[in-house]
Amino acid sequence: MPDERAGRTALVILNTGDGKGKTTAALGTLFRAWGRGWNVIMLQFIKSETANFGEHRAARRTGFPVVPLGAGFTWLSKDLEHDKALARRCWEQCREHLLSGDFDIVALDEITYPLTYGWLPVDEVIETLRQRPAHVHVILTGRAAPEPLVAFADLVTEMRDVKHPFRSRGVKAQAGIEF
Ligand code: ATP
Ligand code: MG
Repeated sequence: MPDERAGRTALVILNTGDGKGKTTAALGTLFRAWGRGWNVIMLQFIKSETANFGEHRAARRTGFPVVPLGAGFTWLSKDLEHDKALARRCWEQCREHLLSGDFDIVALDEITYPLTYGWLPVDEVIETLRQRPAHVHVILTGRAAPEPLVAFADLVTEMRDVKHPFRSRGVKAQAGIEF
């Protein structure tokens, strides 16, 4: 069997913007790669540990891990140090997975939020991305990606919100479509 890693150009892929589809596109890419026998993982910053969305159910049935880090960010917390510590704990797990070399693709879902809120220094994230083994593709998702991350990434897609049923028809998040 030829080594699929040989000749691979590992990318940093960034899905950002206000439109829907950032996490979905990341999952689609992981699914495609997993179909090739690659080791893939998605680590989710915002989803709580008990989240049992469609992607978590699919993960259990198919075999690639989608791991809610259980951050439990409240957005309302006044305790900045607490939020920072939480973000740091999540990031340490991400870092281990990025640097271990065990995975062909590591997706960090909603990582832009701790960056935007200043809980995690963007320079540190970029430095770790630089240090990762040469075969590791990375997918980052989340709205409002900070400029240094946009500059560093190889492939940046901005999802544009043309129309959303919440605005036009008051339709709330639905199983199978949003979670
Ligand atoms: P998905 O997880 O469906 O791929 P996403 O990762 O691009 O979406 P996020 O920015 O993480 O989206 O937002 C989470 C959810 O917010 C989405 O599932 C989406 O349906 C919903 N959403 C996105 N845009 C709007 C909007 N303009 N109004 C209300 N809800 C929205
Ligand atoms: Mg998302």
